[in-house]
Amino acid sequence: MEQSFDQFNAALLYCNQCRRAMPVRERLLLVLPDGELYDYTCQGCNSSVGSKTERVGLKPPAAKPRLGG
Ligand SMILES: [Zn+2]
Repeated sequence: MEQSFDQFNAALLYCNQCRRAMPVRERLLLVLPDGELYDYTCQGCNSSVGSKTERVGLKPPAAKPRLGG
């Protein structure tokens, strides 16, 4: 039996088309001023199953303790 995915360490995301968690391909879609938009494509049916924005270049906002009101 041959493996269709070699060494591809993909996350599993639920695909509405396949109706199950499927391995997805991460694709850089857009470069935004405050991050990069990634699109996730199902490897089974090639439909988009989601996207996320990966923030780059910016530090996450520090959580300040609230003093009084
Ligand atoms: Zn699918």
